[in-house]
Amino acid sequence: MTQPPDSRYSRQSRFAPLAEEGQRRIGESTVAIVGLGALGSVQADLLARAGVGRLRLIDRDFVEISNLQRQTLYDESDAAEALPKAVAAARRLARVNSQIQIEPVVADLSPRSIEETFEGVDMILDATDNFETRYLINDFAVREGIPWIYGAAVASYGVKLAVIPGSTACFRCVYPESPRGAQPTCETEGVLGPVTAAIAALQAGDALKILSGHKDFVLTRMTTVDVWTGQIRQTAPPARDPDCPCCAKHEFPHLEGKHRAPISLCGRNAVQIHERSRPVDLGELASRLNGLAEVRVNEFALRAALDPYELTVFPDGRAIIKGTTDAGVARSVYARYVGV
Ligand SMILES: [Zn+2]
Repeated sequence: MTQPPDSRYSRQSRFAPLAEEGQRRIGESTVAIVGLGALGSVQADLLARAGVGRLRLIDRDFVEISNLQRQTLYDESDAAEALPKAVAAARRLARVNSQIQIEPVVADLSPRSIEETFEGVDMILDATDNFETRYLINDFAVREGIPWIYGAAVASYGVKLAVIPGSTACFRCVYPESPRGAQPTCETEGVLGPVTAAIAALQAGDALKILSGHKDFVLTRMTTVDVWTGQIRQTAPPARDPDCPCCAKHEFPHLEGKHRAPISLCGRNAVQIHERSRPVDLGELASRLNGLAEVRVNEFALRAALDPYELTVFPDGRAIIKGTTDAGVARSVYARYVGV
């Protein structure tokens, strides 16, 4: 027997602190999820099922087979098609909950696009893998007074911290500068699916509290979880810095793009070129590359095997060049095959 549609959220609204009113508020909310890897997959799945009215899903990359171990929204056919993660995630989530609006954004979050990308959002969930994007999110969130939840995981451990402008320390109070030197990454140290799921679940839990009007329940502590040792800790983050350039002095250099390199490392052995905002006709490029390389193209991206490199070009002109960490090499591959 089919259930009446109003029973979809009954187990959630029966939870007393949420109740029908909390559920109604959740349904009227808009949430941006930045990054649709392991953290973003779990966040998006939980929030779509919870009935967040509008989910904006932002990711710059495409699905690969090595993602499937922990990125729970995707399957082998997404990797075989090399679908952008935002598109594959939106397709999957539309089957999970057809009553909400899902807005895939295949793009790099940049100072140029951030206003449009975050237009109308009530909160932001961090599922990125780099400090540069987190500082950008923090500048925007503090300026606009929008809560956001920082999350990160590598190997078997992870961390979660809620940033509620005007109430908690901001990300720059806690991390005044990005860490120097080589940092452990999921490429070098690996990462376990259970830890990304745990951190993302904590972030989604904070989201439900904030969206339902219970932000006072959000713990202002930094939560660290290690699924291998079993340790879970709550530590006090630094207090709000009275001299914080961001939340005290309201200087937002990341929004002005002052810290942004036109080219950035993207994973262990790849370079992203994102300074060009020149649309590329992927069909035309595919026919130009025909005979030079093995080319696969769909409406979202073009991928060319240019041994020893692999070039992926998106319709907005952005590209990811795999097989090098050298910006100069990446530029020359781009110039040679896409144009200058
Ligand atoms: Zn601050």
